[in-house]
Amino acid sequence: MKSFKKVYIEITSICNLACSFCPPTSRQASFIKIEDFAHILDQIKPYTQHIYLHVKGEPLLHPKIGELLDISHEKGFKVNMTTNGTLIPKAKHKLLGKSALRQINFSLHSFDGHPGSENRAGYLEEIFAFAREAVKSGTIISYRLWNLTEDLETNLAKSRNRETLEFLEREYGLDYRIEEKVLRGSGIKLTDKVFVNLEHEFGWPSLDAPEDDGHGFCYALRSQAAILADGTVVPCCLDGEGVINLGNIHRTPFSEIIEGERANNLFDGFSRRQAVEELCRKCGFRQRFGA
Ligand code: SF4
Ligand code: SF4
Repeated sequence: MKSFKKVYIEITSICNLACSFCPPTSRQASFIKIEDFAHILDQIKPYTQHIYLHVKGEPLLHPKIGELLDISHEKGFKVNMTTNGTLIPKAKHKLLGKSALRQINFSLHSFDGHPGSENRAGYLEEIFAFAREAVKSGTIISYRLWNLTEDLETNLAKSRNRETLEFLEREYGLDYRIEEKVLRGSGIKLTDKVFVNLEHEFGWPSLDAPEDDGHGFCYALRSQAAILADGTVVPCCLDGEGVINLGNIHRTPFSEIIEGERANNLFDGFSRRQAVEELCRKCGFRQRFGA
């Protein structure tokens, strides 16, 4: 039987920002219903204990985020969340103290990625204040700057990130510049339970992208699967448009979907180091894993 390190559950397809590097979804705007979320958890329970509450939308837009966390806890899941952090002032009381909340990733690159962003200091201060509280109940905080575009040194020395990094250095009383410690692909520990993670900007896979020979590997359906806000099951968190539609969890049991023909073809293909899906042959993430 397949088992997953994590399953992504998109609780809304809507985002309050429009980052330049994030193509907007053409899927219907929706919020997951409480009963549908509970149904999904029951379906995936035999396969994982870790859920990630996003694929494309902004999870803190969900008005019932507190209830979703409570249900996750009742059903024995640990929750990881990735947010742009702009709604923390409004949503923090729904998050603090929730036992299910294992980790929150703050996509700080969204500040510079969204053309209308204002007041970097205010934005970061709200997030830092929240983080100070959240770590007390054991939640891990990870700050992400996934917007490096050139070679690491040039980028960090000259870019807009320096300003954000300065705020982080001040907040955590660091006596070094964060870029001095950067190792791509691994986080830097700032203090107990708090990390910063710098990465190159990644392109969402798209059917419009050029195709390569399809050689390579991906952990989709080996360590992860994802479920979009309307219940569509896809193999990975990068299929934000539901191109590799494996079935709908509200119509077909999850157990059948992940053992279906399309799912098994994808899985067996990667066992042979071959991407059988067109989207996978156009996906930079697969190329990143190498052959
Ligand atoms: S990158 Fe994140 S914050 Fe930016 S538009 Fe996409 S989902 Fe929203
Ligand atoms: S290769 Fe890319 S699109 Fe295909 S399953 Fe893996 S992450 Fe998803």
